[in-house]
Formats: sequence, structure tokens, C-alpha cells
Amino acid sequence: MTQLMDKLVSLCKRRGFIYQSSEIYGGINSCYDYGPLGVELKRNIKEAWWNAMVTSRDDIEGLDAAILMHPRVWEASGHVEGFTDPLVDCKKCKRRFRADHIEGDSCPECGGELTEVRKFNLMFKTYMGPVEEEAAIVYLRPETAQGIYVNFLNVQMASRQKIPFGIAQIGKAFRNEITPGNFIFRTREFEQMEMQYFVKPGTDEEWFEYWKEQRLQWYESIGIRKSKIRLHRHTQEELAHYAAAAYDIQYEFPFGWQELEGIHNRTDFDLSRHMEYSGKDLRYFDQQEGKKYIPYIIETSAGCDRTLLTVLVDAYEEEALENDTRVVLHLSPKLAPIKAGIFPLVKRDGMPEMAMKIKEQLQGKYNVFYDESGAIGRRYRRMDEAGTPFGITVDSQSLQDETVTIRDRDTMQQSRVHVTQIEAFLEDQMRTWRREG
Ligand code: ATP
Repeated sequence: MTQLMDKLVSLCKRRGFIYQSSEIYGGINSCYDYGPLGVELKRNIKEAWWNAMVTSRDDIEGLDAAILMHPRVWEASGHVEGFTDPLVDCKKCKRRFRADHIEGDSCPECGGELTEVRKFNLMFKTYMGPVEEEAAIVYLRPETAQGIYVNFLNVQMASRQKIPFGIAQIGKAFRNEITPGNFIFRTREFEQMEMQYFVKPGTDEEWFEYWKEQRLQWYESIGIRKSKIRLHRHTQEELAHYAAAAYDIQYEFPFGWQELEGIHNRTDFDLSRHMEYSGKDLRYFDQQEGKKYIPYIIETSAGCDRTLLTVLVDAYEEEALENDTRVVLHLSPKLAPIKAGIFPLVKRDGMPEMAMKIKEQLQGKYNVFYDESGAIGRRYRRMDEAGTPFGITVDSQSLQDETVTIRDRDTMQQSRVHVTQIEAFLEDQMRTWRREG
């Protein structure tokens, strides 16, 4: 891991974004817990995604399917047979690698000889009911998509949507990754934000292009720098068994360009397979055409934790000031866990009382944080590190004319605003906020 990643991991722990799971027991590999700031950030990311994909559109419906599904689902989807990664072990140092992640035929750590490639299924298996017998095997879902496919007709009929339309879902997925790592980039338990868009065969390429653009724009809308995002189109060799075409949206992490989200043209593969394995007719009746067909599916599949990591990496800056440096997270105000810090300049003369009143006025609408301890500069710095976009300070002038100063996290400029205008000011600033670069 690079220095930046180390600094970020330590900031995440210090400020309560992310902790190692079961830390007091020495932790468990690649599992993480989200602390007070982390959970707010994560909720805001999901909210921004849900809003863009569901609430602000007429053609997409939401779903929340169970993690445990009928085991036949994973036979139909191809996961039982084919959801494998190639595994190799080093005979000398015993380390384990994904064969497709290493170059050459010797151990990248010690140069030792590697074993033959073995196929390793990534699905977590468990047992349903008290008897550990073959018949009761179930899997923790390795993707949320299948919950959408098996509910395709339920949702279509209840919502009376016509094709083209989509179904969106946010939920946990589990993969027994061979080499998890890079903090929360690759873990064994993670959340996905997936949307499956059902289209008429023949219009799939058009919709594939459309969703690629929409999804790129979404990352910009949550404040990720455009210069750090790129598209990678899969070559024929890279394509998954179900896909006719695929793009990855990639981000330039400190450990290289890596996938953030996959956009796939899955054709009629999934619904055809579920028809075959369940014996149920999942075709859509197109009234205009007067015939039934199996829709094609365009999938947009993003990782929630991976987006959160991206947001943090992209926002992190150590800024050199005149006589020291500050650590600041340039988070989009839309995502920031705390929207405003509220400070009495000193702990007397009625300043705390006035500041408390402002806190009460804003609380409920925004997540705000009241802080009266320590020098004001220190209090600003603490908020900079948490990515809080605004600092509202009550000073001696406030007691005279009912104005406060509002400090902008990114520019550190202060504006004087009347107490009755605070909300309007914040709204305006949040709406017009842009990340440079
Ligand atoms: P890879 O080949 O790197 O293992 P993939 O191409 O199989 O990944 P997809 O199945 O397309 O990944 O998953 C869609 C999205 O889900 C990814 O873009 C990523 O954001 C997220 N994701 C997948 N696996 C993990 C994981 N182990 N940890 C965190 N997020 C993940």
C-alpha cells in the first residue's frame, strides 16, 4: 500500500469512518466496520445513488430481495459451475495468489515455484436448518442481480411498467475472495448498488451506450474528479460468460487504475436460464407488438464500499499553508457526514447560548456538530479532516447584530451572514459546489 493509503486508513480509524472488524480480538482479515462518520457517508452515497436511479425517474422501480435464495438460482445463473477464480500457491513461502493477478510463473513475493492452477469457487456455502446435509446447502449471494431477475415479472406486473424499464437494488453480497486487500477495495462481504434495465432485443446497444454515459455522470455528480475516471471496454477475452459487451468504469487509485463499476449487456442470458431451470415463462408481453419476447438486460453494477473508498481517496488532501499543513477532505456537501460545525468563538458572553440556538435551528434538517472546546483554529481543523463543508462561528459581533461567520472548508474564506439567512446560504453553497480537476 502506498503512503496515501496508510494515511487514509489511519484517518478513518482516528475520526470514526472505518474500523477493522473485531479489532479487540486482533481483527478478522478483510472485514470492516463503519463508525459514526463512515455510516453517515455510506448512507449519503446510497441515497445519492437511489435518488439518481429510482426516485428521480419514472422508469426504474426499487427492490430489496433476500440474501439467501433457492440454491437452483445459482445453478441457473452459472455461479455453481463457473463463478471461480484461478488459484495458485507458492510451494516455498506458501502464499496464495489469483493466477490472473500475477505475471510470470514464479512467486511474486519470494520467486518460489508455484503449484498448478486450481479453480476455486467464490461462493460462501452454508446450511439451512439444523442438519448439515447436502440437501440443505444454501449460498450467501455473490451478487444482488439474481434477486432482481427472479422478481422481474412480479415487479413488472405490480408496477405496470412497460419495457424499457429497470429494477434497482442495494444490498450485501459475499465472495470468498482469494486475495482481498487494499483496505475496503476488495473484501469478502460488501454492498452492491445494482440496476438491471430490461429492453427490447435490438435496442440493447443503444441503451448500453446510454447507461454508460449516465453512470459516468453520476460519479461526477458526487464530486469525483473527472480526470481520475476512465472507461475500459472489455476485450473478447475479458468478457464474462453472460455478456455481449462490457465496460468498466475505472478510478485511478494510489495502487493503480481499478474497476469501480461494471456495465454489461447481458443479453437474454439470465432470463432464458431462469426460464429453463424454473420451468416458468418469464417472457414479457409487448402489447404494441402483440407478441411475447425475452427482454435483454443492461446491467449497471457498482460497489458501495468501493465508491466510498473512491470518495475518500479523491477528497483527501494535505494542503501546505503559510506556516503549517492541514489535512482536508474535499467531500461533496451532498455526501459529507456532517454538514456544518457550529462554534462559539469563546465560552462566555452568551456566545455558547446563541450557538446552541443555531444548532437547534439546523438540527433535524442537517447533521450538524456543536463544538466549544479548544482554540477555534483547532476546531476548524477537526472539521476539515471530517470533510465538513461549513463552519459557523458566533463571535462578539454576532451578539450585536445577529450575524455569524460561515467558513468555507475548501477556500477557508469566511462570509458574514444573518442568522435568518443561514439555511438559504448553505443551500445555495451546496447546490453550486464543484470539485476542481
Ligand atoms: P473482479 O474481477 O475484480 O473480482 P468483478 O469484475 O467480478 O471483479 P463485478 O462482478 O462486476 O466484479 O462486481 C460489480 C462491482 O461490485 C464491482 O465493480 C465492485 O465495485 C463491486 N465488488 C465486486 N467484488 C467486490 C469485492 N470483493 N469487494 C468490494 N467490492 C466488490
